[in-house]
Amino acid sequence: MNEIPSNCPMISSKTITARRMMDLAIEKIENTSIHKINLIWLEATGCAGNIISLLNAENPDIIYLLDQMVTLKYNNSLMAAEGAGAFQQFLDTLETEFILVVEGAVATKDDGLYTVIARYQGELVTAMEAVKMAGEKAKYVVTVGTCASYGGPSAARPNPSQSVSVPQFLNKEVIRVPGCPSHPDWAIGTIANLIAFGMPELDPQSRPIIFYGITIHDQCTRRSYFNNGIFATKLGEPECMFKLGCRGPVTRTDCPVRQWNGYVNWPIEDNTPCIGCAQERFPDGMSPFVRY
Ligand code: SF4
Repeated sequence: MNEIPSNCPMISSKTITARRMMDLAIEKIENTSIHKINLIWLEATGCAGNIISLLNAENPDIIYLLDQMVTLKYNNSLMAAEGAGAFQQFLDTLETEFILVVEGAVATKDDGLYTVIARYQGELVTAMEAVKMAGEKAKYVVTVGTCASYGGPSAARPNPSQSVSVPQFLNKEVIRVPGCPSHPDWAIGTIANLIAFGMPELDPQSRPIIFYGITIHDQCTRRSYFNNGIFATKLGEPECMFKLGCRGPVTRTDCPVRQWNGYVNWPIEDNTPCIGCAQERFPDGMSPFVRY
């Protein structure tokens, strides 16, 4: 397996810039009077994989996020409160300054009844209603994961719940942080940027350029095989997996240099073609994931 050349100016400048930005944000949070902002992290129509991915954060970790950066007011999975009391906390937060993070798409069929997140004063509260209520009042709206950002698996054919992405649903600027799931650094890094410097630089699809500025193919450790026309014919071979359906050439994330699960590995290094999980039209437009 080829290693990423540490002296490659393009790769090192991208990683150094991303790391430096995170460090600067953390430095500013620690050394100035930046106040912790309230955070609502809504789980709409999806698998909750992004909040689980967030728990894998290492640098900084989830404890740092909750201690130093935000006051988590509402999240279905992590909050201690439950029932009507939990939803009251959600309603109270709407009257404050807060960031709204949504993971999962917005199910719209039957007034959103396919995803109910609470029962309050005898009424069911749908994720659709909650996204609308909080989305209209939030200082920033961030979609974490591909379902919230583009519809993703939740809106895949035949889409029985008529799910749509948050940007399709809300008439407001939304920062997209896609991925299935999103890397914890992409989510925390975006929140850090918002707290310390305001709106990050975004690409035309409203993704932070710092994490989504180049394609996987640009940085892939198998790129020299591609350039020389040497292709794997079956899974497990070490060459370029383009002919097995790799979507690295059209997928914009920094997976090859950031890596996953404590920065130890990523799909292509583990002999799996990129399936384009962070890209618009995933999964319908990306399948079949492997071609022989
Ligand atoms: S096609 Fe896939 S495996 Fe081949 S170089 Fe590009 S990203 Fe890497």
